[in-house]
Amino acid sequence: MKTAVFPGSFDPITLGHVDIVERSLKLFDKIIIGIGENKDKKYMFSSAKRTEFVYKTFRNEKNIVVKPYEGLTVNFCKENDAKFIIRGLRNPADFGFEKSIALTNREINGDVETVFFLTNTEYSFISSSIVRDLIKNNGDFKLFIPEGITI
Ligand code: ADP
Repeated sequence: MKTAVFPGSFDPITLGHVDIVERSLKLFDKIIIGIGENKDKKYMFSSAKRTEFVYKTFRNEKNIVVKPYEGLTVNFCKENDAKFIIRGLRNPADFGFEKSIALTNREINGDVETVFFLTNTEYSFISSSIVRDLIKNNGDFKLFIPEGITI
């Protein structure tokens, strides 16, 4: 049984996140989507809301579990018997940032491997921060988030 954690803020979940999850399902038996709670971060949506949006998106997927978490991602992996961390890459800037996180995590816990997926080009420009800007400024944010989510 191959279990992976997909950690992130998901503030809110976007079609880019969904694309990464769908790709990951081809490789892993179970995916735990970890909704991060970092005390230093200012979120638009509460942990409960972010969790609810992700839960609703994947409610019919039996191989996906959604869980909020605090603290180090590698510890969350250990608690959940997951040996893999999933991250998405949109562009070279993402790679630079993700590389340092992945290498740090490897130093902390060499049993956990980070696996990267490239999004479909169609979704590679989407980010939660753009969606938040659209929400604040009455833009059509629904184009970029999964159907069935009411914000
Ligand atoms: P974090 O605060 O941990 O970066 P995010 O929710 O912004 O949380 O992102 C979680 C993961 O999803 C990251 O690996 C990020 O690169 C990836 N991601 C976000 N949006 C996209 C997208 N449009 N295409 C591919 N990956 C994405």
